[in-house]
Amino acid sequence: MDKIGRFGDLGGQYVPETVMNAVTELQEAYDRYKNDPQFLAELHELYRNYAFRPSLLYYAEKMTRDLGGPKIYIKREDLNHTGSHKINNALGQVLLAKHMGKKRIIAETGAGQHGVATATICAYFDMECEVYMGREDMERQALNVYRMELLGAKVTGVDSGTATLKDAINEAMRDWATNIETTFYCIGSVMGPHPYPTMVRDFQKIIGEEAKAQILEAEGRLPDCVVACVGGGSNAMGIFYDFIGDKSVRLVGAEAAGRGIETGEHAATVSKGSLGIFHGMKSLFLQNDEGQIAPVFSISAGLDYPGIGPEHAHLHETGRADYVAVTDEEAVQAFEYLSKTEGIIPAIESAHAVAAARRIAPTMGKDQIMIINLSGRGDKDVQQIARYRGVDINA
Ligand SMILES: *Cc1c(COP(=O)(O)O)cnc(C)c1O
Repeated sequence: MDKIGRFGDLGGQYVPETVMNAVTELQEAYDRYKNDPQFLAELHELYRNYAFRPSLLYYAEKMTRDLGGPKIYIKREDLNHTGSHKINNALGQVLLAKHMGKKRIIAETGAGQHGVATATICAYFDMECEVYMGREDMERQALNVYRMELLGAKVTGVDSGTATLKDAINEAMRDWATNIETTFYCIGSVMGPHPYPTMVRDFQKIIGEEAKAQILEAEGRLPDCVVACVGGGSNAMGIFYDFIGDKSVRLVGAEAAGRGIETGEHAATVSKGSLGIFHGMKSLFLQNDEGQIAPVFSISAGLDYPGIGPEHAHLHETGRADYVAVTDEEAVQAFEYLSKTEGIIPAIESAHAVAAARRIAPTMGKDQIMIINLSGRGDKDVQQIARYRGVDINA
């Protein structure tokens, strides 16, 4: 990183003056705590005793045999408390908020996964929690709304714009700027103004650190390929980061092609996006000719974001990571495949990574090694996949 909060020319702090005070306060606090031994000791203790880390690195023997290519390992973030990698980041940010003396946490959520993770940690720390959620998403994800309320959070519906994730982020930013004294804004991915992309990556990089130690223990060498799904990009940055300096390791991000990248109904930001400034950062976004943010579509609510974190855009720009687009149909097939082959039902987001792995594995040698990051478990998606397949599960 050349300048503060920049990845090449990307990232930065493009926020209105009213938000700048909050951003500066957070940046100073993060600079102070990020290398503080006591803060890091507390964080790692919570990783262990609350999130149940380290997560398993599982050798997928049947998948390996079936695809006939590299030895395939799966990093089991689905086994974390609350069922995904989101808990790593929520733990880090709420712990930081506590050290900053903040009493109130706000968050945005799309599908509800980040909202649930944040509400969970707030329950644990006895903090006030308010989650902004697009009205449209609240209807689609009613169960997660109730889950957050059960955990003691207040869920506030957002009606502006398309009443989805990007509008929830706008509303949370407004709240943050107004209530800066008491309030900490816990962002759910490696996006937003600096320090968020760096800070969220730092709280997620434990995934790659563990995976590297685990593969060295199991195989005595580094993997040849690491695959992860990309929405905003936090689980992918988490597993990629510790491997970036290892040039022999190919890094592959799988983004959501929805109904196909030629249909206009997708969330394939790297394939189809262009440079822009939105939500406080310079990065790649799906936008129209006037620069307005375009509507996005994916079967996976967690990948349904019209942008990508600036560090990913930079990894793409420099060619250090490759990004491939996976359609809904391919993701659903991978969802079914992993369930039947390994007895692991993946989150539909994670199934995008499995689909990319199925495409890449046959091009690799038997003496090679691949790691797939399984960002979350699929219980939450079973009903939707049944509907997609036309199965009436209420019959
Ligand atoms: C939220 C979510 C994602 C997408 O977010 P990233 O920031 O790109 O990781 C992927 N998988 C699961 C299970 C999620 O809940």
